[in-house]
Amino acid sequence: MSSELRELYQEVILDHSKKPRNLREIAGGRKADGMNPLCGDRATVYLELDGDVVKDASFVGKGCSISTASASMMTEAVKGRTRAEAEALFERFHDLVTGDPSKPGTGGADLGKLAVFSGVCEFPVRVKCAALPWHTMKAALENAPEPVSTE
Ligand code: ZN
Repeated sequence: MSSELRELYQEVILDHSKKPRNLREIAGGRKADGMNPLCGDRATVYLELDGDVVKDASFVGKGCSISTASASMMTEAVKGRTRAEAEALFERFHDLVTGDPSKPGTGGADLGKLAVFSGVCEFPVRVKCAALPWHTMKAALENAPEPVSTE
């Protein structure tokens, strides 16, 4: 990755961590709690489903800049998608941050803005920070009763 691209990616992550999008609750929506004990990140993800489509997505929580930026961008990314699309996006995002070269989609070519997290795979400790909001989103989709933990 060029240093210019890296800088741009860092800027996007910084912007979302300072000004998180969709930082609110959704009354009557589905929700799930997630935590990453390794870093101390906590996130509650809210989803409003219209049939099979994610009509609205939001989160509240407290965490490091990576987890906050990831939660902010996750809510933007899944809005308007079907459950299956949101789950597929999670799989691709997970492959991106874990940097598994055997999986298609690595490199983030079709992830759009989420590609900014491609640098995270170089920092294994940060992978769980980036993945936490996604794991929590999936639990909310499934109406999982138990809180999600990355450990
Ligand atoms: Zn973190």
